[in-house]
Amino acid sequence: MPSNCSESVACELLRAEARRLGFSACGFARAEAVDDTHRQALADWLSEGRHGEMYYLTAHGDLRSDPRLLLDGARTVISVALNYYPVRFLRNDQYQFAWYAYGADYHEVMRDKLHRLSAYLQSLVPKAAVRVCCDTAPLLERYWAWQAGLGWIGKNTQLIMPHAGSCFFLGEILTTAELEVDRPYPNRCGSCRRCLDACPAGALTAPCRLDARRCLSYLTIEYRGELPAATATQLGNRVYGCDECQRACPHNRWVTPTSEPALQPSAAFLSLDKAQLQHMTESEFRTVFGNSAVRRTKYLGLMRNVHAITEN
Ligand code: SF4
Ligand code: SF4
Repeated sequence: MPSNCSESVACELLRAEARRLGFSACGFARAEAVDDTHRQALADWLSEGRHGEMYYLTAHGDLRSDPRLLLDGARTVISVALNYYPVRFLRNDQYQFAWYAYGADYHEVMRDKLHRLSAYLQSLVPKAAVRVCCDTAPLLERYWAWQAGLGWIGKNTQLIMPHAGSCFFLGEILTTAELEVDRPYPNRCGSCRRCLDACPAGALTAPCRLDARRCLSYLTIEYRGELPAATATQLGNRVYGCDECQRACPHNRWVTPTSEPALQPSAAFLSLDKAQLQHMTESEFRTVFGNSAVRRTKYLGLMRNVHAITEN
């Protein structure tokens, strides 16, 4: 750290730069082993098979439990949040997509901003090594966002930011720079259980316990097989993802629309109607979703979801 830039000054400069880049929040946590409670919760979740077929989550357990194994000499985890709540919405009587997938694939947007924030950090601390993480490293993103004081992990397993809600992408920078860390945010769920009651699939089997095998978000996006019969009846109009446990959360009354240009929905997306999706060709899929997170489910996955609804 240069003598004219204390840890706390560097943090405030970094927060200001993060805001200038369009992040809604930026916090700092000490890079150290994940606490026993969260490590055990992850181990239990995996051993009970509640991750479904997301087998990649079973790999790199050691790396996932300590960010210092991802960057030699890491001292700080910088956690940032990028708002994705849409400005405009699909019509309610049309097939629905998760809010996070309305705009461009967030990975590219997030990565670019994280690299710019890293470059700024290295201008303040020239010797600092950095590693940008955006869904690309085995890191417990919500845990680190909580540790960095951004918010708390709600009973719906989402990171909830005070007076802002849960509609945020998370990203991280690991660095060898030793920065002044924030305090983990206290949990504010209290006796509320609206998310558990609102889940159409019973996937939140207890507070903070998600069974991905029942979750409509997992089933419509990550899962590759035929949808279970019960799922088709639970889908309603949802063809890609599900936001019910976020819609139900009273802390999302604070949401404001994202101002990030890349995350704005295209006219082609907003005008999608049921007939168009039912008869969509692969080439049309590439045109409408070529730059979108919806590519993750691939053409056949989206068609599987559409047909499950129409056949039901
Ligand atoms: S995303 Fe939907 S199905 Fe999954 S836990 Fe939330 S409400 Fe339930
Ligand atoms: S709906 Fe209630 S219990 Fe669920 S995450 Fe929000 S505040 Fe917590």
